[in-house]
Amino acid sequence: MTSREEFQHVFHRQRGIIDQSYVSCLQPLVGGDDEGVLSALLQLKLLGSSAIIHRDPGEEVDAERLKALLPRHTGTWSEVVEELYKDSEKSPSFDNSRGTIKTDIWAGGINSARPDGEPGLWLMYGNGRALVGSGGICEIANTESRHTFLDLPTLICGSSALVHRYAMDQGVFLSQRISDCWVSMTARIDDIGPEEAVRNVRSRFGNGTATHTSDGNGSLIRFRIPITETPESLIWQIESEKAPPPPPLEDPLDVGPLSAKSSDGTYSFSESELPLRLSNVDALVLGAGGLGSWAIPLLISGCDTADSRITIVDGDQRVEAHNLNRQVLYRTEDIGRPKAHSARRRVLRSLGLREESVRSFATELQPRHAYDKEDYEGDDMVTLEEIAGEYFEDMAQEDDGIIGALDSMQVALSCLDNQYARTTLNRACNNRGVTMVNGGCEGTVGLVEIFSGDRCMVCSYGPEEALSLEKISCQEEGSRPVNSIVTTSSYVGSMMACIALCELARQRGYDVRIPEPRDIVDGMVSKRCSGSLPWIKGVCDDHL
Ligand SMILES: [Zn+2]
Repeated sequence: MTSREEFQHVFHRQRGIIDQSYVSCLQPLVGGDDEGVLSALLQLKLLGSSAIIHRDPGEEVDAERLKALLPRHTGTWSEVVEELYKDSEKSPSFDNSRGTIKTDIWAGGINSARPDGEPGLWLMYGNGRALVGSGGICEIANTESRHTFLDLPTLICGSSALVHRYAMDQGVFLSQRISDCWVSMTARIDDIGPEEAVRNVRSRFGNGTATHTSDGNGSLIRFRIPITETPESLIWQIESEKAPPPPPLEDPLDVGPLSAKSSDGTYSFSESELPLRLSNVDALVLGAGGLGSWAIPLLISGCDTADSRITIVDGDQRVEAHNLNRQVLYRTEDIGRPKAHSARRRVLRSLGLREESVRSFATELQPRHAYDKEDYEGDDMVTLEEIAGEYFEDMAQEDDGIIGALDSMQVALSCLDNQYARTTLNRACNNRGVTMVNGGCEGTVGLVEIFSGDRCMVCSYGPEEALSLEKISCQEEGSRPVNSIVTTSSYVGSMMACIALCELARQRGYDVRIPEPRDIVDGMVSKRCSGSLPWIKGVCDDHL
């Protein structure tokens, strides 16, 4: 490990959820079809785990659809895997033995055959359905397979649930979750009180906080050392009990966007109406972090890129090392760059798209973009010219771009951790009669819901929450840092892409069902009963 890597803290945001040193020792045997194996491997790699791949390392890889998510998707298995694990300490090995091989994780499309008698976990996916089970595969009716616009996001939500379940079965999760962990520098100062100590003593690490010494004769002042200056070996020297593995799966988990389980308890993957690709899509994605970096490429995978347009808006957030455990579009070389532009560059390059098919704005979404002027401008409102000063021209041009994107969007995805910006986007959508897909996640809990005008963020969450300016941030200075792990954020991000794609298909006259809003808690998916708060009758005062 080089000294640079020692300060990267790639897994910082998940170390309060899982036992990272235990995860780094896992070596599941992974089998299935090429795209199934690679999507499971991508999840394992982002978790910090290695694997044994059931392949001949010299065999050619067939994983065209994963090209936006993998650093390399063509060549031999050994070349593709080496590139994926380039910056990792451990890299997977291969086992190409035939006969009685017992995979721990198996992932394949509905037409691929898993050997009988295997005891491990499996994922079957296709036609917008995904099932995760253990042991023998259940009987699935109508396994006729064709390519559809939901294939890639369905595979990703399936492999997220599969690898999450594997991690739970291995007992890697902590029973006592820890939100954050850091190293402080403490100084003792005699003969003065804490307030005076804070006033008089400074550090380049920012403001200190002080308390009385236990003998009352002085003060202890503490400064939080930023993680970028703390060796990884000094943080997370704390221990917490691991949660026991859950009871074995009896029935498969129905984790795909469309339900595979019928009311009579049988499983079917049939679907006749799903299109292959949607043309002339115009979508806006707010936020290019843990959710957006999955939702953006997965949304594009269902669109005809020759005539579709995606707009990415992400405030002034820059890529940080501790984003790399889940934000699939970024690599080490993106650290320090604005997320919106990095995400755009990555998808343009990996998918070979035209420059104009993806636009990016590294600007926070503001009321001035979302509403008509008279809706928000009071007498004391400052003008853009006053805010922007010499940058007025640039900002005005950027504002026009964002307003144009809001006016032309057919669907919006709210992938941000900033509640105020979500509400702003929600109002912009309601004003324009556009559906907004909202997603959120924290640790191993996530949600996906749909706002299509009948209610808004204020009706659903109340004005205090909906208009809250608190930023729940994954940055060091965020007021409440949250845990994040890839299996939850990729599940939510891919489900958001599925719902947005189905909404776009519905607008084009396809008879598709819109996937149900849902919660995901510790790998278990349940229907989300989204509605208004009980004390808000009808619609809220702010409802537009
Ligand atoms: Zn409302």
